[in-house]
Amino acid sequence: MRRTTGWQSTGNSTALERVPIERRELRADDLAVRVDHCGVCHSDLHAIHGLTGKPAAGLVPGHEFTGTVTAAGASVTGFAPGDRVAVGTIVDSCGSCAMCAAGQENFCYQGATVTYGGTDRVDGTTTRGGYSREYVVRDKFAYPLPEGLDPAAAAPLMCAGITVWEPMRALGIGPGSQVAVAGLGGLGHLGVKLAVALGAEVTVLSRTPDKAADARELGAKALVAVDAAVDRFDLILDTIAVPHDLAPLIGLLGLEGTLSVVGLPLETKVPLMQLAYGRKSVSSSGTGGTKHTAELLAFCAGHGITADVEVLPSSRVEEALTRLEKGDVRYRFVLDLADLD
Ligand code: ZN
Repeated sequence: MRRTTGWQSTGNSTALERVPIERRELRADDLAVRVDHCGVCHSDLHAIHGLTGKPAAGLVPGHEFTGTVTAAGASVTGFAPGDRVAVGTIVDSCGSCAMCAAGQENFCYQGATVTYGGTDRVDGTTTRGGYSREYVVRDKFAYPLPEGLDPAAAAPLMCAGITVWEPMRALGIGPGSQVAVAGLGGLGHLGVKLAVALGAEVTVLSRTPDKAADARELGAKALVAVDAAVDRFDLILDTIAVPHDLAPLIGLLGLEGTLSVVGLPLETKVPLMQLAYGRKSVSSSGTGGTKHTAELLAFCAGHGITADVEVLPSSRVEEALTRLEKGDVRYRFVLDLADLD
């Protein structure tokens, strides 16, 4: 076994403990990655609080990270020690179902292996995430980190970024599209930047006018109140992570518009009659497959897009989690794992 160090949560506590952890010896198609930066995602909080199931042995969160390859298995051809890489929310899948064949391993019919709290398909061990100094990952699920992307600010692309990218690409968002973003956090702020770069006209939806300057800074044309009497959007990216009423958002959609609920409020009601009036859709998705993830990284490199981040040494992980819980971050915390050496 390889030995490294990580931050582990036991019980439902956000006070993570620094613990020694083991990583598997490299298989033929594995990379060992020194984790340099790992984003702090809302689903880490959900997992720590036990809302999405939790391994009894303790949880090492973290599923959007960048780092450096330190060793490669015997059959690896695409990576070499020293390469910069990025890893997201999925580290394996069945590889043979229709979803995997389409490059949508995130929807693998046999269940994708998630980066932490998942079950390794070969040895049955529980996966442990990127709040640690080393991760061992199958090469298929590591991505070259393009030159020019800052590794700390690029880490959140791997979960927050891809989660808003896939629905925009699926709907063909581009010049002339009217896109609105609800919730200006980790996902939302990347939604604004990416939609603007795709050529859409972007509006931020908000309950309060105090986000107007932030919205403009990110490239949005306007800030509109959620209860405004407009109905013109082709797509509303709903990135709000807490339970909320979808009806006011559906009311803002134009003909055949789509409300894409990606903040994963764990329970939510869909008012069907309201959809009928305008042939509107409500959809949802989570993270992304290899095809769109590679495409997103290339797009971000081409357009100079990364997340707006606040980088903290990993020893301050509890502060990051408690401030994230209060919404006190612009717009994503990223842990610097160098202090685990
Ligand atoms: Zn995430």
